Amino acid sequence: AKGDGRGRVCSYNAQMDADARDRRLLEGDLRRAIAAGDIALQYQPLFSAQTGQVTSVEALARWHHPTRGPVRPDVFISVAEESGLIEELGDRLLRQACRDACSWPNHIKVAVNLSPLQFQTDGLCERVSRVLEATGLPAERLQLEVTEGLVIRDVERTFVELERLRALGIQILMDDFGVGYSSLSYFERFRFDKVKIDKSFVDRLASSQASKAVIRAVVGLGQELGMAIVAEGVETEDQMRLLVELGCTHLQGFLFSEPLSADLIGTFSATTGVV
Ligand code: C2E
Ligand code: CA
Ligand code: CA
Ligand code: CA
Repeated sequence: AKGDGRGRVCSYNAQMDADARDRRLLEGDLRRAIAAGDIALQYQPLFSAQTGQVTSVEALARWHHPTRGPVRPDVFISVAEESGLIEELGDRLLRQACRDACSWPNHIKVAVNLSPLQFQTDGLCERVSRVLEATGLPAERLQLEVTEGLVIRDVERTFVELERLRALGIQILMDDFGVGYSSLSYFERFRFDKVKIDKSFVDRLASSQASKAVIRAVVGLGQELGMAIVAEGVETEDQMRLLVELGCTHLQGFLFSEPLSADLIGTFSATTGVV
Protein backbone atom coordinates (compact mmCIF):
# COMPACT_ATOMS: atom_id res chain seq x y z
CA ALA A 1 0.00 0.00 0.00
CA LYS A 2 3.05 2.23 0.32
CA GLY A 3 3.24 4.95 -2.29
CA ASP A 4 -0.41 5.15 -3.25
CA GLY A 5 -1.38 6.79 0.01
CA ARG A 6 -3.83 4.09 1.02
CA GLY A 7 -1.70 3.00 3.93
CA ARG A 8 -1.86 6.46 5.37
CA VAL A 9 -5.60 6.71 4.91
CA CYS A 10 -6.02 3.36 6.58
CA SER A 11 -3.90 4.23 9.55
CA TYR A 12 -5.66 7.58 9.86
CA ASN A 13 -9.01 5.83 10.02
CA ALA A 14 -7.59 3.23 12.35
CA GLN A 15 -6.41 6.03 14.62
CA MET A 16 -9.85 7.62 14.61
CA ASP A 17 -11.41 4.28 15.47
CA ALA A 18 -8.93 3.79 18.27
CA ASP A 19 -9.67 7.28 19.64
CA ALA A 20 -13.41 6.70 19.50
CA ARG A 21 -13.03 3.33 21.18
CA ASP A 22 -10.84 4.85 23.87
CA ARG A 23 -13.40 7.58 24.44
CA ARG A 24 -16.16 4.99 24.84
CA LEU A 25 -14.06 3.06 27.34
CA LEU A 26 -13.37 6.23 29.27
CA GLU A 27 -17.07 7.08 29.21
CA GLY A 28 -17.96 3.70 30.69
CA ASP A 29 -15.33 4.07 33.38
CA LEU A 30 -16.53 7.59 34.13
CA ARG A 31 -20.13 6.44 34.44
CA ARG A 32 -19.05 3.84 37.02
CA ALA A 33 -16.75 6.26 38.82
CA ILE A 34 -19.55 8.81 39.19
CA ALA A 35 -21.94 6.17 40.52
CA ALA A 36 -19.29 4.94 42.96
CA GLY A 37 -18.56 8.46 44.16
CA ASP A 38 -14.96 8.24 42.96
CA ILE A 39 -14.83 11.76 41.53
CA ALA A 40 -13.31 13.83 44.30
CA LEU A 41 -13.00 17.55 44.92
CA GLN A 42 -10.03 19.64 45.83
CA TYR A 43 -10.24 23.26 46.82
CA GLN A 44 -8.00 26.10 45.71
CA PRO A 45 -8.09 29.20 47.93
CA LEU A 46 -8.65 32.77 46.75
CA PHE A 47 -7.04 35.52 48.77
CA SER A 48 -8.11 39.09 49.36
CA ALA A 49 -5.52 41.39 47.81
CA GLN A 50 -6.12 43.82 50.64
CA THR A 51 -5.94 41.64 53.73
CA GLY A 52 -4.26 38.47 52.46
CA GLN A 53 -7.07 36.43 53.99
CA VAL A 54 -8.66 33.43 52.37
CA THR A 55 -12.13 34.57 51.35
CA SER A 56 -13.27 31.60 49.32
CA VAL A 57 -12.10 28.41 47.67
CA GLU A 58 -12.80 27.03 44.21
CA ALA A 59 -13.93 23.41 43.98
CA LEU A 60 -11.99 21.49 41.33
CA ALA A 61 -12.93 17.97 40.29
CA ARG A 62 -10.37 15.14 40.49
CA TRP A 63 -10.50 11.65 39.04
CA HIS A 64 -7.83 9.11 39.74
CA HIS A 65 -8.44 6.37 37.18
CA PRO A 66 -7.48 2.87 38.44
CA THR A 67 -5.16 2.17 35.47
CA ARG A 68 -4.69 5.49 33.67
CA GLY A 69 -3.87 7.47 36.80
CA PRO A 70 -5.10 11.05 37.15
CA VAL A 71 -7.35 12.18 34.27
CA ARG A 72 -7.44 15.95 33.68
CA PRO A 73 -10.77 17.51 34.64
CA ASP A 74 -11.18 19.35 31.35
CA VAL A 75 -10.93 15.93 29.68
CA PHE A 76 -13.46 14.06 31.81
CA ILE A 77 -15.79 17.03 32.12
CA SER A 78 -16.05 17.16 28.34
CA VAL A 79 -16.62 13.38 28.23
CA ALA A 80 -19.38 13.89 30.79
CA GLU A 81 -20.87 16.71 28.72
CA GLU A 82 -20.87 14.66 25.52
CA SER A 83 -22.37 11.58 27.13
CA GLY A 84 -25.14 13.13 29.16
CA LEU A 85 -23.40 12.44 32.47
CA ILE A 86 -22.75 16.05 33.36
CA GLU A 87 -26.03 16.64 35.13
CA GLU A 88 -25.55 13.79 37.56
CA LEU A 89 -21.85 14.56 38.03
CA GLY A 90 -22.57 18.27 38.49
CA ASP A 91 -25.26 17.58 41.09
CA ARG A 92 -23.03 15.23 43.03
CA LEU A 93 -20.09 17.63 43.03
CA LEU A 94 -22.30 20.49 44.13
CA ARG A 95 -23.64 18.43 47.01
CA GLN A 96 -20.13 17.35 48.02
CA ALA A 97 -18.82 20.93 47.90
CA CYS A 98 -21.69 22.22 50.04
CA ARG A 99 -21.23 19.42 52.54
CA ASP A 100 -17.49 20.08 52.81
CA ALA A 101 -18.02 23.83 53.16
CA CYS A 102 -20.24 23.27 56.19
CA SER A 103 -17.18 22.05 58.11
CA TRP A 104 -15.08 25.15 57.38
CA PRO A 105 -14.94 28.54 59.12
CA ASN A 106 -18.00 30.61 58.22
CA HIS A 107 -16.10 33.32 56.37
CA ILE A 108 -14.91 30.88 53.69
CA LYS A 109 -17.25 30.64 50.72
CA VAL A 110 -17.14 27.82 48.20
CA ALA A 111 -17.21 28.36 44.43
CA VAL A 112 -18.49 25.55 42.22
CA ASN A 113 -17.90 25.43 38.45
CA LEU A 114 -21.01 24.98 36.33
CA SER A 115 -20.95 23.51 32.86
CA PRO A 116 -23.02 25.46 30.33
CA LEU A 117 -24.96 22.23 29.77
CA GLN A 118 -26.23 22.29 33.35
CA PHE A 119 -28.23 25.34 32.30
CA GLN A 120 -29.79 23.53 29.37
CA THR A 121 -31.96 21.34 31.53
CA ASP A 122 -34.87 22.74 33.48
CA GLY A 123 -34.91 23.09 37.19
CA LEU A 124 -31.30 24.02 37.91
CA CYS A 125 -32.39 26.58 40.47
CA GLU A 126 -34.65 24.06 42.20
CA ARG A 127 -31.90 21.45 42.31
CA VAL A 128 -29.38 23.92 43.75
CA SER A 129 -31.91 25.05 46.28
CA ARG A 130 -32.61 21.46 47.33
CA VAL A 131 -28.88 20.83 47.81
CA LEU A 132 -28.58 23.90 50.04
CA GLU A 133 -31.49 22.71 52.11
CA ALA A 134 -30.20 19.15 52.40
CA THR A 135 -26.69 20.17 53.40
CA GLY A 136 -27.62 23.18 55.51
CA LEU A 137 -25.15 25.48 53.78
CA PRO A 138 -26.37 29.09 53.78
CA ALA A 139 -26.86 30.31 50.18
CA GLU A 140 -24.59 33.26 50.98
CA ARG A 141 -21.65 30.88 51.24
CA LEU A 142 -22.16 29.39 47.78
CA GLN A 143 -20.79 30.88 44.58
CA LEU A 144 -21.34 29.53 41.09
CA GLU A 145 -18.73 30.02 38.37
CA VAL A 146 -20.08 30.28 34.85
CA THR A 147 -18.23 30.89 31.61
CA GLU A 148 -19.09 33.07 28.66
CA GLY A 149 -19.89 29.92 26.69
CA LEU A 150 -23.01 29.57 28.76
CA VAL A 151 -24.33 32.99 27.98
CA ILE A 152 -24.22 32.64 24.21
CA ARG A 153 -26.47 29.58 24.09
CA ASP A 154 -29.72 31.13 25.15
CA VAL A 155 -29.18 34.61 26.45
CA GLU A 156 -32.68 35.32 27.73
CA ARG A 157 -33.12 32.05 29.56
CA THR A 158 -29.65 32.14 31.03
CA PHE A 159 -30.06 35.56 32.58
CA VAL A 160 -33.47 34.68 33.99
CA GLU A 161 -31.97 31.55 35.58
CA LEU A 162 -28.99 33.51 36.93
CA GLU A 163 -31.35 36.08 38.48
CA ARG A 164 -33.30 33.30 40.17
CA LEU A 165 -30.10 31.81 41.62
CA ARG A 166 -29.01 35.26 42.74
CA ALA A 167 -32.38 35.75 44.44
CA LEU A 168 -31.60 32.77 46.65
CA GLY A 169 -28.53 34.64 47.91
CA ILE A 170 -25.97 32.80 45.80
CA GLN A 171 -23.15 34.80 44.21
CA ILE A 172 -22.56 34.46 40.48
CA LEU A 173 -19.04 34.62 39.06
CA MET A 174 -17.98 35.12 35.45
CA ASP A 175 -15.09 32.71 34.91
CA ASP A 176 -12.25 32.89 32.36
CA PHE A 177 -13.23 36.38 31.33
CA GLY A 178 -11.61 37.79 28.21
CA VAL A 179 -11.19 34.63 26.17
CA GLY A 180 -13.79 33.05 23.95
CA TYR A 181 -16.90 35.00 23.19
CA SER A 182 -16.72 37.77 25.76
CA SER A 183 -19.21 40.48 25.27
CA LEU A 184 -19.27 43.62 27.34
CA SER A 185 -23.03 43.74 26.82
CA TYR A 186 -23.40 40.95 29.40
CA PHE A 187 -22.54 43.50 32.04
CA GLU A 188 -25.49 45.62 30.96
CA ARG A 189 -27.76 42.64 31.49
CA PHE A 190 -26.39 41.19 34.69
CA ARG A 191 -24.18 42.38 37.49
CA PHE A 192 -21.85 39.51 38.26
CA ASP A 193 -20.56 39.45 41.82
CA LYS A 194 -17.06 38.60 40.68
CA VAL A 195 -15.23 38.48 37.38
CA LYS A 196 -12.25 36.15 37.05
CA ILE A 197 -9.73 37.39 34.53
CA ASP A 198 -8.40 34.47 32.53
CA LYS A 199 -4.95 33.17 33.38
CA SER A 200 -3.69 33.94 29.87
CA PHE A 201 -3.76 37.69 30.63
CA VAL A 202 -1.86 37.09 33.85
CA ASP A 203 0.71 35.01 31.94
CA ARG A 204 1.39 37.86 29.49
CA LEU A 205 1.40 40.55 32.14
CA ALA A 206 5.17 40.93 32.37
CA SER A 207 5.74 41.03 28.61
CA SER A 208 2.69 42.77 27.26
CA GLN A 209 1.64 46.36 27.83
CA ALA A 210 -1.69 45.43 26.25
CA SER A 211 -2.47 42.73 28.83
CA LYS A 212 -1.85 45.28 31.55
CA ALA A 213 -4.23 47.69 29.83
CA VAL A 214 -6.91 45.00 29.53
CA ILE A 215 -6.67 44.13 33.21
CA ARG A 216 -6.75 47.80 34.18
CA ALA A 217 -9.89 48.28 32.08
CA VAL A 218 -11.63 45.26 33.63
CA VAL A 219 -10.71 46.50 37.11
CA GLY A 220 -12.23 49.89 36.21
CA LEU A 221 -15.39 48.19 35.03
CA GLY A 222 -15.53 46.25 38.28
CA GLN A 223 -15.11 49.37 40.40
CA GLU A 224 -17.83 51.17 38.47
CA LEU A 225 -20.30 48.29 38.62
CA GLY A 226 -19.45 46.90 42.05
CA MET A 227 -17.92 43.64 40.84
CA ALA A 228 -14.89 42.11 42.54
CA ILE A 229 -12.07 41.29 40.12
CA VAL A 230 -10.09 38.09 40.54
CA ALA A 231 -6.80 37.28 38.84
CA GLU A 232 -6.39 33.52 38.40
CA GLY A 233 -3.25 31.52 37.76
CA VAL A 234 -0.87 33.82 39.62
CA GLU A 235 2.52 32.09 39.68
CA THR A 236 5.16 34.74 40.38
CA GLU A 237 5.79 37.54 42.84
CA ASP A 238 6.13 39.99 39.97
CA GLN A 239 2.67 39.11 38.71
CA MET A 240 1.30 39.45 42.22
CA ARG A 241 2.79 42.92 42.67
CA LEU A 242 1.48 44.15 39.32
CA LEU A 243 -1.99 42.70 39.89
CA VAL A 244 -2.30 44.32 43.30
CA GLU A 245 -1.09 47.61 41.80
CA LEU A 246 -3.65 47.33 39.02
CA GLY A 247 -6.39 46.96 41.61
CA CYS A 248 -7.42 43.33 41.41
CA THR A 249 -9.42 42.57 44.54
CA HIS A 250 -8.64 38.85 44.80
CA LEU A 251 -5.78 36.59 43.76
CA GLN A 252 -5.62 32.86 43.11
CA GLY A 253 -2.73 30.76 41.89
CA PHE A 254 0.05 28.31 42.62
CA LEU A 255 2.13 31.15 44.12
CA PHE A 256 -0.25 31.11 47.09
CA SER A 257 -1.69 27.63 47.11
CA GLU A 258 -2.42 24.63 44.95
CA PRO A 259 -5.80 22.93 45.24
CA LEU A 260 -6.04 21.26 48.67
CA SER A 261 -8.12 18.58 50.34
CA ALA A 262 -11.27 19.63 52.18
CA ASP A 263 -9.64 18.77 55.52
CA LEU A 264 -6.83 21.23 54.95
CA ILE A 265 -9.26 24.06 54.11
CA GLY A 266 -10.84 23.46 57.49
CA THR A 267 -7.56 24.35 59.17
CA PHE A 268 -7.29 27.71 57.39
CA SER A 269 -7.99 30.37 59.87
CA ALA A 270 -5.97 33.51 59.60
CA THR A 271 -3.87 35.17 56.93
CA THR A 272 -1.18 33.62 54.78
CA GLY A 273 1.02 36.65 55.02
CA VAL A 274 1.81 36.32 51.34
CA VAL A 275 0.15 39.48 50.14
P1 C2E B 1 -10.87 26.66 35.62
O1 C2E B 1 -12.26 26.73 36.14
O2 C2E B 1 -10.34 27.87 34.93
O3 C2E B 1 -9.96 26.27 36.87
C1 C2E B 1 -8.67 26.78 37.10
C2 C2E B 1 -7.62 25.79 36.68
O4 C2E B 1 -6.33 26.42 36.76
C3 C2E B 1 -7.51 24.56 37.57
O5 C2E B 1 -7.10 23.48 36.75
C4 C2E B 1 -6.41 24.95 38.54
O6 C2E B 1 -5.79 23.83 39.15
C5 C2E B 1 -5.48 25.66 37.60
N1 C2E B 1 -4.60 26.62 38.27
C6 C2E B 1 -4.84 27.35 39.37
N2 C2E B 1 -3.78 28.14 39.68
C7 C2E B 1 -2.85 27.90 38.74
C8 C2E B 1 -1.52 28.39 38.50
O7 C2E B 1 -1.00 29.24 39.21
N3 C2E B 1 -0.87 27.91 37.42
C9 C2E B 1 -1.42 26.98 36.59
N4 C2E B 1 -0.69 26.55 35.55
N5 C2E B 1 -2.67 26.48 36.78
C10 C2E B 1 -3.37 26.94 37.84
P2 C2E B 1 -7.82 22.08 36.78
O8 C2E B 1 -8.19 21.70 38.17
O9 C2E B 1 -6.98 21.15 35.97
O10 C2E B 1 -9.19 22.36 36.01
C11 C2E B 1 -9.21 22.64 34.64
C12 C2E B 1 -10.59 23.04 34.19
O11 C2E B 1 -11.50 21.94 34.30
C13 C2E B 1 -11.22 24.15 35.02
O12 C2E B 1 -10.71 25.40 34.61
C14 C2E B 1 -12.68 23.95 34.70
O13 C2E B 1 -13.00 24.53 33.46
C15 C2E B 1 -12.78 22.45 34.58
N6 C2E B 1 -13.28 21.91 35.87
C16 C2E B 1 -12.59 21.49 36.95
N7 C2E B 1 -13.44 21.05 37.91
C17 C2E B 1 -14.69 21.21 37.42
C18 C2E B 1 -16.01 20.94 37.94
O14 C2E B 1 -16.21 20.47 39.08
N8 C2E B 1 -17.07 21.23 37.12
C19 C2E B 1 -16.90 21.75 35.87
N9 C2E B 1 -17.99 22.03 35.12
N10 C2E B 1 -15.68 22.04 35.36
C20 C2E B 1 -14.59 21.76 36.13
CA1 CA C 1 -13.37 28.09 37.44
CA1 CA D 1 -10.97 30.03 35.54
CA1 CA E 1 -9.13 28.86 32.85
